[in-house]
Amino acid sequence: MTTATLYVIATPIGNLEDMTYRAVRILAEVDLIAAEDTRHSLKLLNHFGISKPLTSYFDHNQQIKGERILNALRQGKSVALISDAGTPCVSDPGYQLVRDAVAENIPVIPIPGACAAIAALSASGLPTDTFTFAGFPPSRHGKRCTFLSGMNALPGTLVLYEAPHRLLDTLNDIREVLGDRHVIVARELTKIYEECIRGTTSEVIATVSQSIVRGEVVILIAPGKVAPPENEALEKVLERLMADENLSVKDIAKQAAAISGVSRSEAYAEALKLRTIED
Ligand code: SAM
Repeated sequence: MTTATLYVIATPIGNLEDMTYRAVRILAEVDLIAAEDTRHSLKLLNHFGISKPLTSYFDHNQQIKGERILNALRQGKSVALISDAGTPCVSDPGYQLVRDAVAENIPVIPIPGACAAIAALSASGLPTDTFTFAGFPPSRHGKRCTFLSGMNALPGTLVLYEAPHRLLDTLNDIREVLGDRHVIVARELTKIYEECIRGTTSEVIATVSQSIVRGEVVILIAPGKVAPPENEALEKVLERLMADENLSVKDIAKQAAAISGVSRSEAYAEALKLRTIED
């Protein structure tokens, strides 16, 4: 075991089979395990037959505990950081400890595994080339709407965590602020009642309203139409493309639609108009 190393270890988000071999091995080898909730993590560790000194590291004791954990690392001990579920530091404690370890040149090694946001995204069917993970939205309506409006122009898929009892209110705010986009509510991933509720925000609101939503949820929001920048307005894009005599009107419309975010039929109609004017 490499000494004076902080291992950031992902644990399952429900299904214990998602624990990696490497996570089990490193947890069994480190000198100390820092866990968000020691009682909760003890069940996981017992399941895998791991018996190691445990210390708590959660939101409200980060300062004091962080210093003690850093001291152990400074003394050459190896420490594993785990949270209640999934990847530490992702809407879970850990960031400050990792930041401080990095600042002291203490090696920090991630042991990857489950993360609800990534699991939900991978099965969403929404674009994955660009996405924004924004954690939990604020719990109050006003602040939540401000938070969402800051995301309106972002490209790519939006990924949020939410508590089940706020799901309906948040979906209503999403519709109000971001429009009736395609959304997915990924619920209880890796567990018995796992499901993905898909549809327009209105459709998902209708489904979710029918019963009390229980368990854990991730909300994924399809990209909105990003307004084209001033200099890339449809007409300018068309003019530029029409300078290429090898392109047919159909090709021009296809490319212009992709660049400026309008529909192909709109781009085609506009291209025909411009060509008539030129002729
Ligand atoms: N660190 C964790 C991770 O890597 O996913 C996230 C911890 S955060 C405190 C808990 C939130 O993650 C839940 O409220 C829910 O939004 C999401 N989550 C965790 N497990 C989930 C699951 N099995 N299915 C759906 N969402 C889950």
